Amino acid sequence: MTLRAGVLAVQGDVSEHGDAIRRAAAAHDQTAEVVEIRESGVVPDCDVLLLPGGESTTISRLIHREGIADEIQSHVEAGKPVLATCAGLIVSASDAQDDRVDTLNVIDVSVERNAFGRQKDSFEAPLAVEGLDDPFPAVFIRAPVIDYVGTDVEVLATWDDHPVAVREGPVVGTSFHPELTEDPRIHDLAFFDSVES
Ligand code: GLN
Repeated sequence: MTLRAGVLAVQGDVSEHGDAIRRAAAAHDQTAEVVEIRESGVVPDCDVLLLPGGESTTISRLIHREGIADEIQSHVEAGKPVLATCAGLIVSASDAQDDRVDTLNVIDVSVERNAFGRQKDSFEAPLAVEGLDDPFPAVFIRAPVIDYVGTDVEVLATWDDHPVAVREGPVVGTSFHPELTEDPRIHDLAFFDSVES
């Protein structure tokens, strides 16, 4: 089958996610049709969604202004997969500890923006991830720290005693940027473990 993958493209790193989902699909003898989301009306036709990194205050403002926020919430309510990375995770959280981010509340975590960034702006770490045999090369860029997870949230990976990959129902969120490496395993975990083929 062809998977219709929508990448939120109002702001942030978009093309890398498209490449990553195509690589993950190819590993399953499937193809992915990647569509960029800049306005309302696109999300309802997507099988899976990617909410990329970028600037969470900007992404939050634009998705509400364009009427995309409600559509993402409906997508999750329908049980369809979402991968939310870095700023995408901040926007998806139940609490971003910042009034400028009106969150989607599709994953019950509280995040502190830029909190890993205070120690180091950017770093790569070999991350043990639940369900993966070998460590994942995780790239952190001014990453959020998850400092609370709700009871229905599964922690898939931790770094420095903080959860950095989480799953609640159809939503997988990461503090890091899985699209910035050639390794498609996080996209695989988020989409091909849960998408009917
Ligand atoms: N610091 C950004 C924010 O808070 C997130 C960084 C990223 O997505 N790389 O929105």
